[in-house]
Amino acid sequence: MHDISLASGTIEPQSVVAHNNSTFCSARLAEDDTRVLGVSGPAISRFAGALETLPDGTTLFPCTPRNAATLRMQLPWLRPIALGTATSFGFGDRMGLATSGHIQAMRITGAEALIAPIFAQQSVRENSRTGRTPQQVLDDAMWAVFAAGWRAPWGADADHVKQINDLAPFVAAGYTFYTIDPSDHVDNAAQTDSLETLRAKVAELPWGQLHTRYEALHATYCGQPIDVGAFTIDFHETDLLRALVKYGRALVHTAAISQALAAQLGSQPYDIEMSVDETDTPTSIQEHYFIASQLRALDVPVVSLAPRFVGKFQKGVDYIGYVGEFASEFARHAAIMRHFGSYKLSIHTGSDKFSLYPVIAQLSHGRVHVKTAGTSYLEALRLAAKQRPALFRAMLDYAREHFEHDRKTYFLDAQPDRVPDSWAMPDAELPALLEQFDTRQVLHVCFGSILDAFGDDLRAMIAEDEQAYRDGLAHHFARHLQPFL
Ligand SMILES: [Zn+2]
Repeated sequence: MHDISLASGTIEPQSVVAHNNSTFCSARLAEDDTRVLGVSGPAISRFAGALETLPDGTTLFPCTPRNAATLRMQLPWLRPIALGTATSFGFGDRMGLATSGHIQAMRITGAEALIAPIFAQQSVRENSRTGRTPQQVLDDAMWAVFAAGWRAPWGADADHVKQINDLAPFVAAGYTFYTIDPSDHVDNAAQTDSLETLRAKVAELPWGQLHTRYEALHATYCGQPIDVGAFTIDFHETDLLRALVKYGRALVHTAAISQALAAQLGSQPYDIEMSVDETDTPTSIQEHYFIASQLRALDVPVVSLAPRFVGKFQKGVDYIGYVGEFASEFARHAAIMRHFGSYKLSIHTGSDKFSLYPVIAQLSHGRVHVKTAGTSYLEALRLAAKQRPALFRAMLDYAREHFEHDRKTYFLDAQPDRVPDSWAMPDAELPALLEQFDTRQVLHVCFGSILDAFGDDLRAMIAEDEQAYRDGLAHHFARHLQPFL
C-alpha cells in the first residue's frame, strides 16, 4: 500500500498501518475529497459497501458507522479507554471536524506522552443543540485519530449526564468517561436558608439512600477538626447541615446513576466524574470534603471531581476574578484532593483561562482534567472572519438576534449592545472581534442557532482549507496545553 499511488485519490500517509496480516489506510477521493477507508488483506471481508478495488488489491470502503465499528474491532487503539487519574484534557468538538487540529496541538507541544486527551466529548445539552448523536461524535473523533496515526490512549466523555435515561446511547457507542451532573438535585437555597429551615430540610432527606444517620455524620464531621495534611477543616454544625441540604439529594442521585452505569457497563473499565460546577455558589472547602467523603461512603468510584471554584468561569473567555484569591482556594481544594488520593480536580468551562493555567498546573501537581467545549467552534468562526467576511458578518448578526434566547442556561457577563457593528469595520479587522469579550461570548453561546443556520457554510469553508483550521486549532490549543507540561 506504500508503493501504490491511489488512482482515485490520495492516501493520508500517517494513517497507513499493518496489523494482523491486513493493511489499513485513510484516503481522500480525488473527486470531492471525501474520506474513505482503504483495506488490503483478509480483513477486507469484514467491511461493508466496497466502493472500488485498486490494482494492488486495496479495497476502498465508505466511512460509515458500521465500518467504524468494524475498524475499532481490528485496531484496538481506535477504541477510547478509561484514563484514570492521569493528567487529562478534554477537547469538545461541536462540528466533528476539530480532532485533527487537537492532535496537531498535542504533537507540536510534546503533550502526547504527558497529557491524556479526551477527543470525543459532548454533553447531552450540546448534542440536543447540534443534532448529533453520541455515536457520531465518537466516530468523527475516531476517523481523525485513525487518519493521523494516533496510537496513544484517548478517552470519550459523556459530558453532563443528568439522568439515568441519558446513559444508554453513550454506553452503546463505547464512551469511557461519564460526567455525572446532579445539579438538578442541588438545593441552591441552602446557602441562605435559616438554621431552622436547614434542620427541617435535613429531616426530609432520603436517609435510606444516604445509608447513614445524621448523628453518625455529626460525629464524623463535627466531632473534631479534620486533618487533611496541609491544614485542618473545622466543621460547625451549620456547615454540615448546609452541605447536607445543598448536596444530599445530589449525592443520592449521583450514586443512582453510578449504579446504573455499573449495571450497563459490567466489567468494562470506565471513569466517573461528578460535576457540581453549574451551581449558584462556589463549592466551599467543607463542601468539597463532604462530597468526596460521602461519594466514597456511597461507593461512587469517581476519578474526577469538578467543584465550582471561586470567581467567574464563563464560556470562551479568561477567568474573571482575582487570581490570588483563586490560587489560595485552589490550593486548599488540591490539598483535599490529595488527602483522598483517588481522584483529580476537573476544571469545567476550562478553555481560554490562560491566567489560571500556571497556578492550576503547579498546585494540582498534574492531578487535573481541563475540559473545553466551544472554543474549537470559535476557531472555525475565526477562520470565517479571515476567509469569509460576508459569512462572518451574517453569523454575527444572527447570533445577536438569538442571544437572549440562547443564553438562558449560561452564566454570562456579555452585553450584546457592546458587540461592535461589523458592517462598519473593514474586513481586515474582523478576526480581532474573536478577541472582543462580548462578541466572543455572544458567538459562543449561540452555537446551536449558528450551526443550524450556517453549519453547512462553515463545513464547506473548512473542507476547502482543512490545513488552515488545523493550524488555527493547533496554535490555540498549544497555549492551553503548554502550562501543563
Ligand atoms: Zn461543565
